Amino acid sequence: MADAADPVDRLLPVRIARFTTGDDPSYGVVSGELDEFGQPADDSVVVELAGDPLYAGVQPTQTEHRLSDVRLLAPVIPRSKVVAIGRNYAAHAAELGNDVPEEPLIFLKPNTSVVGPGDQVFYPPQSERVDYEGELAVVIGRICRDVPPEQATDVIFGYTIANDVTARDLQKKDGQWSRAKGFDSFCPLGPWIETDLDPQDFADGVSIQTHLNGDLVQDGSTKDLIFDIPTLVAHITSVMTLLPGDVILTGTPEGVGPMEPGDEVEVSIGGLGALTNTVVKR
Ligand code: MG
Repeated sequence: MADAADPVDRLLPVRIARFTTGDDPSYGVVSGELDEFGQPADDSVVVELAGDPLYAGVQPTQTEHRLSDVRLLAPVIPRSKVVAIGRNYAAHAAELGNDVPEEPLIFLKPNTSVVGPGDQVFYPPQSERVDYEGELAVVIGRICRDVPPEQATDVIFGYTIANDVTARDLQKKDGQWSRAKGFDSFCPLGPWIETDLDPQDFADGVSIQTHLNGDLVQDGSTKDLIFDIPTLVAHITSVMTLLPGDVILTGTPEGVGPMEPGDEVEVSIGGLGALTNTVVKR
């Protein structure tokens, strides 16, 4: 039962942002409902937290800021890695001429590729084809390995939105994906981490859309994930230990395509919000 006088209940659902007002980054909980476009209300506030909620838990302080007065940053800097999944939607595998993998296909993006909401994606001079890939991202909350699927929820801190930016020409040329997926700024994350969702919500189906300069270019649902979130957590942790703050990108639905310098790209996921970035030449 929600208690309006309780500072934590008042803030549910818990939307954890990392932000700056000009000084060192802080963490906070963003209040209020999102509109149909995933945008927070004009009067939304950020209640500052004591410490990093990944380690200290959600401890609200007495300090509040208007959301419009702060600059949101990437809600998490992965402590060691971003583990990404390739070809996890059948229609997307098909659009690039690939078969659906028999088991999850994993690759890594360096934590130095992470940028935040509103940040620029740098179009590198080595590429002539840089694509957007809108994706649901899972933020890990505790050190873990060999996690059974039925215990995946225990190691998940929350969910955010990602753009798995990809130099498509270099991906084909190199045959492996480290360069194509790993440029600085090729992993926008944000705008915040939603902690009050369950993997089953995504299995039931949550919309995932990408708009390029306002045009709808990806229109998928997480119910079409080939390997669901518990399966991904189990598979990845059978290979490598995950640390608090590590991030899993769950794959992109069909409709990937190129971005050009000057473009604005927005990835939105139902209930999570919208992540917007612009592309500039490096
Ligand atoms: Mg991807």
